[in-house]
Parts: sequence; structure tokens; C-alpha cells
Amino acid sequence: MSEHNPSGPVILPGSTIGVLGGGQLGRMLALAGRHMGYRFVTLDPAEDSPMGQVADRQITAAYSDAAAARELARQADVITYEFENVDAGVAALLAEESYVPQGHALLHTTQHRLREKRAIEAAGVPVAPYAEIRTLADLEEALGRFGTPCVLKTATGGYDGKGQRVIRAADEAAAAFAGLGGGVTELVLESFIHFEREISVIAARSPRGEARAFPAAENIHVDNILHVSIVPARIAPETARRAEELALALVDALGVVGLLAVEMFLTADGQLFVNELAPRPHNSGHATIEACRTSQFEQHVRAVCNLPLGGTELLTPAVMVNLLGEHVEQALKWLAEQEREEDGLSIKLHLYGKSEAKLKRKMGHITLITEDIDRALRWVEDSPIWKQPETRS
Ligand code: AMP
Repeated sequence: MSEHNPSGPVILPGSTIGVLGGGQLGRMLALAGRHMGYRFVTLDPAEDSPMGQVADRQITAAYSDAAAARELARQADVITYEFENVDAGVAALLAEESYVPQGHALLHTTQHRLREKRAIEAAGVPVAPYAEIRTLADLEEALGRFGTPCVLKTATGGYDGKGQRVIRAADEAAAAFAGLGGGVTELVLESFIHFEREISVIAARSPRGEARAFPAAENIHVDNILHVSIVPARIAPETARRAEELALALVDALGVVGLLAVEMFLTADGQLFVNELAPRPHNSGHATIEACRTSQFEQHVRAVCNLPLGGTELLTPAVMVNLLGEHVEQALKWLAEQEREEDGLSIKLHLYGKSEAKLKRKMGHITLITEDIDRALRWVEDSPIWKQPETRS
């Protein structure tokens, strides 16, 4: 069910969108796309995945299972993915047997920190000073140039702070190198940026070349996992505009189709450095569901289906806070007991349908809608939900 367009087909509602991965991002994508009349099929190794619960169908198989990928291609008119580490063989098979407007080139780039940094620089966008590290001598040489502290990271496979070590003094280099599998595993050293804020901008681009950026969000991490995301970011409007322009420059330079989440560091003197890219919906964009004219999920559907993109204007300030496995019991207790609307503060709970509340696992999020961001942050601070059991009063 597609109409021809010189820059790629338009995939009309009624068509089936296949999604590789059935986690919460796929779930929210399907919820948004179903409103628009699309059908969804997901491929995920876990039965009853968060997306499987709301999709038309789930194929339950390993991501590397070629027969299952072929079945996904057979059932879907267009295919997208909700995570980055898509197996190259499966990506090639899907591209051959179905329509994957996002292609594989961007995945290949963002799966590897060095390739990603080179692509960002080639687009004229700044990254923190970095060096490729193959040997301990490379590391010592780069540390000599950058000074300490620095952050040593694996080139592939790291997320939520896994696969990285901060090197605070030169004599920590050998242990960090060995600890991350240096010599065997490809590593990247980055200068440590003493940032004032971490922000992110999610931008979308469609095959017809239309591009739009969401307002910059400010992100606060705890133990390297996103805790709170605030829109609009509490930064100068001029800086926010610059961040949005950088994200738009990247989607154009990289020929992105769909969403690109751009994480950045902002220093006290107003410099922006891109830290990471993610070619998919992003945790820091969840507040767009309530806070923007179009959510990141609807925008991704629009972009991969080559529909006109939706408006990204902020309708209200908002604070999104993640619910991890250790928070969910308290959150449910609170849900049963508390009013969900306070004067001037709306509290929207999202749960992802995961049955097992493992420590640090993302189980859901709460979006607080308010004109008063400080009040929303106080609400999070005062709530028993995010207090560890031993510190709960
Ligand atoms: P990443 O896995 O690259 O997203 O890093 C996880 C978190 O570690 C970031 O959100 C930052 O808080 C911190 N971090 C990573 N790289 C750097 C850096 N070069 N300078 C300062 N902090 C960093």
C-alpha cells in the first residue's frame, strides 16, 4: 500500500510497519502509529514483549534468526528498528527482501564510536577531543596530549555507562586499558568534558528531505542511566537554537531517515560537544508525547513512511522521570493511593508491560506537565518512589 514519490514511496496508513526489537520504544511507536491507522509486527526474542502486547503480531525469535527476519520482511510493507545493534547480515537481508528506508549505513556508523565521531566531525559538528587506542602506548601518548581526567570507552557495545572508565591520573591508565579488554577490544579515549549541562536534541528527516528538530531537552543521569529529562532545557534560548541547528546539520549530512537523537555536553562558556548519536526514538524524547504538538514516535512513523512531518513546537514545559525496576513497586503503590492531578501539575504514568522488575531495568516513566519546572523537580525529589528502601521514611 504505497504511492510513488520521486524520493521514495509514501507508505500509507493501513500498511504494516515491521519493527526489529519489541521493547518500550517499539511499544510507544506502535501506540502512536495505530492512532494513525498503521498495523504493526515486531520481531523480538522474548515472548509477550512490551511491543508485542500492543502490536498486531509478534514473531518470537532471535534477532540473528534469518528465517524469522525473512518472515518479518514478508509481513511488513516497511521496516524500522528500535535499537542500534542490528546484526549486519540481518540488516542486509531485510533491505533485500523488504523496504528499509533508514538503510544500514547510519547503523554501521553509530554502532562504532570512532566511525560515529568521524562522521560527526565530517558534518562540521564538534565532538570532545578523542583518540583511537590500540595499544597501551597509544593510551599513554593520548593521555599526555589531553591530560587527565579522560574517559576510556569501548568502541562498540557500550550503553548506559557500560564499557567505559574514567582515568583520573596517568597511573590508572594500565588498569583501565586492561579492564576494558585493551589490545583485543577497540578503544577510544575522550577528553573529559567538565560540562555544565547534558542536553539532547531529537531531529527527524524523511526521504523527501524534510527535516525538523524537537526542542532541546536537559538530561540528568544517575549512575549513567537517564533519571530526569526536562523540556525546555534550562539554557539560553540562543544555545538551544544552536543545539537544534547542530542536530539538523547532522540529519542532513548523514542522510538520516527517521529519528536521530543527538546527545551533547554544554560547557559553562557555551560550547557544545556531541557525545553520542542514536538513530531511533530516545529516552530523552518521551516527554514529547504530552509536551509537543507531535510526539517523537508519531514523527518517526511519519518520517519512515514519507508523510509530511508534524510540528515539533512545545505545548507545555514538562519533566520526564524514569521508573526503573527498583522504583516500580512504590510507583504502583502511589498510583493506587494518590490523586493524579494536583493544582497546576499533571502526572502521567507510562508503564511498558514488563513483568520482571529487575534492578536498573527501565519499566516505565512519569511525565509531569507543569509551567513550573522547579515544582516538578521538587515533586520528584520529595516522592518516595525514587528513594532507595533504606532511605525511605
Ligand atoms: P555515554 O555512554 O558515552 O553516553 O556516556 C555516559 C555518560 O558518561 C554521559 O552521559 C556523561 O554523563 C558521562 N560521560 C561520557 N563521556 C564523557 C566525557 N567525555 N566527558 C564527561 N563526561 C562523560
